[in-house]
Amino acid sequence: MKIIVPVKRVVDYNVKVRVKADSSGIDTAGVKMSMNPFDEIAIEEAVRLKEKGIASEIIAVSMGVAQCAETIRTALAMGADRGILIESDADLQPLAVAKMLKVLVEQENPQLVILGKQAIDDDMSATGQMLAALLGWSQGTFASKLNIEGDGLTVTREVDGGLETVSLRLPSIVTTDLRLNEPRYASLPNIMKARKKPIANMKPGDLGVDVTPRLTVIKVEEPPKRKAGQKVGSVAELVSKLRTEAKVI
Ligand code: AMP
Repeated sequence: MKIIVPVKRVVDYNVKVRVKADSSGIDTAGVKMSMNPFDEIAIEEAVRLKEKGIASEIIAVSMGVAQCAETIRTALAMGADRGILIESDADLQPLAVAKMLKVLVEQENPQLVILGKQAIDDDMSATGQMLAALLGWSQGTFASKLNIEGDGLTVTREVDGGLETVSLRLPSIVTTDLRLNEPRYASLPNIMKARKKPIANMKPGDLGVDVTPRLTVIKVEEPPKRKAGQKVGSVAELVSKLRTEAKVI
């Protein structure tokens, strides 16, 4: 079984982001970029399926600026077999990404596409669902467990108030939640091996997709600053303050 894993290059989750002075977005100049953490989980899951003999080939796809090739290299070092970079300086929104993935799926014929449940930069949580809709494929989103059984799979989903298990027929779209697995670190020998793995380079036009943004960002603002806390001298003072000053927000 062939698996496609889309991996997005995002601001590293440890970075405290700064809003640009003109409120048009986040300042990414000189900021550390990494693979979206949910996509690391997606690669890990695909590699485990390969180690079990279920997957035969894993293709890591990244769309965006030329440096997305580094994100693909990380995926290759973790165990993906080859990469596809769709290079574009445009603001690639979920619908455009999903449309390009659809064309790649039609070209590559995978049985499974494993995406992150959301990208931590825009928090859209939309690309996997849009891809499933465009392809007319089954989908198991927010997966915390995945089991391939014959021509189907079961996906345990993290939903409000518990876990839901759905049974799907392949081909399918799966999106990963945090508890699905713990991604491995790439070993030095695997980082070296990854340098030799192929990365195909394309442009959105090669896939015949118009990536013009459909959404306009009006303004990006910092969240309001938290007010300093207060220290109280006794339980009685705390209770009194709770009675007279505390408000339900
Ligand atoms: P989103 O819908 O933007 O929250 O992203 C959900 C998932 O779609 C991500 O975790 C990735 O697996 C995939 N994805 C979104 N944008 C891109 C991109 N530019 N390149 C590769 N994969 C992407």
